[in-house]
Amino acid sequence: MNHYPQSVLNLIRELSRLPGIGQKTAERLAMHLLQAKASETTALAESITAMKQTVRLCKRCFSLSDGDICRLCRNPQRDDGLLCVVEQPADMASLERSGAFNGLYHILGGVLSPMDGIGPDEIRIDPLVQRVRGGAVAEVVLATSTSVEGESTAAYIRERLRRFPVQVTRIASGVPIGGDLKYVDQVTLKRAMESRRKIDVP
Ligand SMILES: [Zn+2]
Repeated sequence: MNHYPQSVLNLIRELSRLPGIGQKTAERLAMHLLQAKASETTALAESITAMKQTVRLCKRCFSLSDGDICRLCRNPQRDDGLLCVVEQPADMASLERSGAFNGLYHILGGVLSPMDGIGPDEIRIDPLVQRVRGGAVAEVVLATSTSVEGESTAAYIRERLRRFPVQVTRIASGVPIGGDLKYVDQVTLKRAMESRRKIDVP
């Protein structure tokens, strides 16, 4: 390694920090970039910088966005009376790929997990309640995973929304117990969304 100039060593070190990239792959990538056209390496460097500067969380749904409000939230074709609550952006991506949902999303950023010290204040439940309080939402679809944490998070949200005139449904059938949405195939996910059921208030 010592035969490389310092600038090459720096790049190899940075690349090897990326997930799934070991020392050898980092070295190979660095050699590839060294031989690539300057326009290509500039485009790569600039797109990384631009992404870090522009991507933030949508102020409404908390998905990744290039502006304050994401493209999906701004899309007039989407049904803003229908709100789907998911754990992570990857779950939203799965549902979008399935094409089963035409409403808006709310990304919690996790699930309740008292053992790990994750309570209601650690995930985005208050912003969800505020969105519902706003009045435009007619139905909230709870699409958290079917794990114990996902179920108890859904139950907690149901309770928090009880005093609002909003229908609360749960995506369930077809999603295996303990199932993480992002690993569920699209046909199953589409069916699960279509056959969501109302949660009965005890
Ligand atoms: Zn959004």
